[in-house]
Amino acid sequence: MRVHLVNPSHLAFGVGVITPRWLYVLAAATPSTFGDPLITDETLEPLDVTTINSGDVVGIGIHTGNALRGYEVGREARARGAWVVFGGIHATLYPDEPHELGGAHAVVKGDGDIAWGRAVKDCVSGSPQPVYEGGKVDADSFLAARWDLLPTNKYMWASVQTVRGCPKHCSFCSVWKTDGQKPRQRGADAVIAEVVELRRRGFRFIALADDNFYTVTLTDIKMASRRADPRQRENLEALRAERFELMDKLSKLPKDMIFFTQITMEAAEDPAFLDAMRRARIKGALVGVEAVTPEGLKDVYKDFNYAGETLVERLRAFREAGVHVLGSFIFGLPSDRPETFEATSVIASRANLTFAQFVMLTPFPGTVDFATWEKTMESNPTRIGGIPITRHWLIPQELRPKVYTPHPVMAADEIRQRTQAVWDDFYSLPKIWDRSKCVPNMKGRLAFVMISKLYRQMYANTGIATDSARVNRSARWARIIAAPCRRLFAAPPMPELQIPS
Ligand code: SF4
Repeated sequence: MRVHLVNPSHLAFGVGVITPRWLYVLAAATPSTFGDPLITDETLEPLDVTTINSGDVVGIGIHTGNALRGYEVGREARARGAWVVFGGIHATLYPDEPHELGGAHAVVKGDGDIAWGRAVKDCVSGSPQPVYEGGKVDADSFLAARWDLLPTNKYMWASVQTVRGCPKHCSFCSVWKTDGQKPRQRGADAVIAEVVELRRRGFRFIALADDNFYTVTLTDIKMASRRADPRQRENLEALRAERFELMDKLSKLPKDMIFFTQITMEAAEDPAFLDAMRRARIKGALVGVEAVTPEGLKDVYKDFNYAGETLVERLRAFREAGVHVLGSFIFGLPSDRPETFEATSVIASRANLTFAQFVMLTPFPGTVDFATWEKTMESNPTRIGGIPITRHWLIPQELRPKVYTPHPVMAADEIRQRTQAVWDDFYSLPKIWDRSKCVPNMKGRLAFVMISKLYRQMYANTGIATDSARVNRSARWARIIAAPCRRLFAAPPMPELQIPS
């Protein structure tokens, strides 16, 4: 009997950008009596089903984007006589679906850190429960990943989680519902131990794979200070102090280490926090800008962000503090107009962004946007390939539309083409070359160009293009560029590295 863990994907690039952390956390959660799990990340290579035998246990983690491929894998595994267990955000939101479509014997809802082990044991004894409630485990129970199982030379960045949950409530995001609004912050020592293990193995670039690294804002503390009861303020101050403790400990790690995280724009107003990030060598952050107009921010319940000139200033503040920003923008919001695309492009250039991504508004399950859209679609009988449009993740990839929410002034294809044009402009060679000035030498600048091109091929062309030939061409290109790009991130292992005292 063997335990398998599968990260499904319909596209494989041979090399991955960031390690899919959940695979290695669930490997740690697998009871040791069943041996080391066999891990397959299909973003590297497709699953070899012949490795699955009768009586094996196959764990498949799905989010909405890869659910359909996950169900294919589940059915194949079940046909080979294996026990099939699904988990991940999508299975948590729709626990019946893997049973109906994916050959599931069981579904783990919520965090798998504890529940996965129970599910494996029950499968092996022949009596799995249909659903396991994993809930939201305390930060003290977050497991360290089994990095000893990582294949060599396959990923550019490793990933460590420092916090789950986000106190915000953006309308297009399900994190605050699935991971909760109360940040569950992991102790600094546990994080540092994992980071040190990864540096020993030759990873010097680490993504702090958090929902939101900036868990407490200065405004939160100011508002809590107005309350008669001091406990809320004390609580927030303790959480903030823990962030500073973690960043202080990161700053004591080898000087060649570089970190990347995900953060809200409010951190730009907190010079002490930015300074601590700089010392910790957190040199990159994904910032959800979403929209460049006040109306757009209102559309997505993100009025804590800024628009116009203030937005440019805030984004520049990160760069001035030594933090490169990957700005994330959404197109297709109800208030967007044809001129919004050009305005966004201009702001992305003026704000000194190092990278940017431009996604089209998609109603994902578990979000406020999805609930509203699903309601408006109740009387709409639109089906594609026999699937109701409100179950868009079940529509075969090649038939799946790119835009779902009807827009007041633009057709779906206009939004798609204009989005593609903004990607094309931001990642045009002259613009990339100009941005590459942020690295000190010619070798670094060439590496920057390659990485920018890879990013575009992996995330824009494969996600926006409707033409499958273009998608396949992009995937092939990405495969070719990915291997040399990975070498740019690798570092000599430091097997002797100790945890700083
Ligand atoms: S988009 Fe970011 S800030 Fe908004 S709820 Fe999701 S994780 Fe939090």
